Amino acid sequence: MQTPKNEALSILTSLGVPPLGSSGLAAHSPIDGKLIGHVAETSDVGAVIGRAHAAFKTWRLVPAPRRGELVRLLGEELRAAKDDLGRLVTLEAGKITSEGLGEVQEMIDICDFAVGLSRQLYGLTIATERPGHRMMETWHPAGVCGIITAFNFPVAVWAWNAALALVCGDPVIWKPSEKTPLTALATHAIMQRALKRFGDAPEGLVELVQGGRAVGEALVDDPRVAILSATGSTRMGREVGPRVAARFAKPILELGGNNAAIVAASADLDLALRAIAFAAIGTAGQRCTTLRRLFVHESVADAFIPKLAKVYASVAIGDPRKQGTLVGPLIDRGALDGMQKALDEARAMGATVHGGGVHDDFGAVASYVTPALVEMPKHDGPVLRETFAPILYVLRYSDLDAAIELHNSVPQGLASSIFTTDLREAERFMSAAGSDCGIVNVNIGPSGAEIGGAFGGEKETGGGRESGSDAWRGYMRRATNTINYSNALPLAQGVTFDVG
Ligand code: NAD
Repeated sequence: MQTPKNEALSILTSLGVPPLGSSGLAAHSPIDGKLIGHVAETSDVGAVIGRAHAAFKTWRLVPAPRRGELVRLLGEELRAAKDDLGRLVTLEAGKITSEGLGEVQEMIDICDFAVGLSRQLYGLTIATERPGHRMMETWHPAGVCGIITAFNFPVAVWAWNAALALVCGDPVIWKPSEKTPLTALATHAIMQRALKRFGDAPEGLVELVQGGRAVGEALVDDPRVAILSATGSTRMGREVGPRVAARFAKPILELGGNNAAIVAASADLDLALRAIAFAAIGTAGQRCTTLRRLFVHESVADAFIPKLAKVYASVAIGDPRKQGTLVGPLIDRGALDGMQKALDEARAMGATVHGGGVHDDFGAVASYVTPALVEMPKHDGPVLRETFAPILYVLRYSDLDAAIELHNSVPQGLASSIFTTDLREAERFMSAAGSDCGIVNVNIGPSGAEIGGAFGGEKETGGGRESGSDAWRGYMRRATNTINYSNALPLAQGVTFDVG
């Protein structure tokens, strides 16, 4: 097997990315913790925003189905590059091969969705109270869309935003995570191919800026950026949200989760076991939708928890490129330290910790861990936080309403599940008195959403929605039009105003 560096460099070359520089952002592979190369930071973000803003003036006038053609071509180019880009996601973010490829498939899926959407940017026609009048809504492009993304979905989140924004008539400027600049370069090269085939897209329509927080802040604060979509930690959203609001731009915030599942007494336990293993251990616990808290009914807990502990002890950990590996590395040493700290806190509260150990045999700079299953004495301490690592806190419950209350008692509100074969329990969990999350599932885990539904969460998760359903509205501005086709001028609410 090649070194991650050599493999990454050869993929970048085959995707047409120019050779890497010798200074700037340092791109590492979490597989061996070693440097792959450097990527230059963008020095003049203002100039990039200026180009995108100029592109808006042209792009907003291009008919939406024609804009959809660009996204259709992007989908074609992504299909052709799926294997390369998926492998690069594995090399730079540490996902197992199947999940790296799955991430690119998600990009392809949202392109397909957006192409259809480009002929469906519907507005309503509304009954008016005035004779000889018609009232309707039209949806127009909103302006430049800044896209700030996190390391853990280094390419898909850009696509969720960009595919919709482009068909909606908005130029896009992407600020990827400073931990994953290479997959962004590769994606941008693929996009350039689509733009070339498209032919007459305005310069500045699809831009990439590289750098850390300061580069992100330049997008956040610039009045020419009309929509700011930011995906990352709640800490980041707490800084970005008020600044975007202060200049009355449109925010789309996709922040941290602290996702939970309930295993009810009637659950199909074999199905629940498989779903929970994927949701809690998959992506080494580094999904925003990763399952982090589990409430098990006391009548099945003694049978279920040991089975789960057995799964935890048996999953293959190691190089994510190897067939059979289910748990790759954490992104870096900071993530590993955060995990160990949370486990220490849990132990100090009297928890029983299964797994959770560090694998030093992969080299001191790479960060491999055994996923941790933690039986907690109470719902408190680290359970209330998102620790971005594979830790699943388990608690027992006897009353469903009390379990739902605990479920909702954390500050985050992204994804949730119930495992039950009892219709009443399932409906209760999905009802107004049930889970308070943006994603509420029955008999599947909280992670691994399809692109057809709106994606996002409530409370400290930020309230934004991306991807499917009507999330496209967040990328457009709405105009209410009232048209008078009569000879009279009746005023609404029966108001009279005769000027003679
Ligand atoms: P992070 O918050 O450290 O960084 C995310 C991005 O924000 C990076 O590009 C970073 O440079 C930028 N950034 C940070 N501070 C900023 C600021 N003040 N102004 C502008 N930009 C700033 O997150 P991360 O460690 O890369 O990703 C993990 C986090 O992302 C987790 O909390 C996870 O739950 C969350 N996440 C959420 C979703 C979702 O859809 N809800 C999806 C993926 C990841």
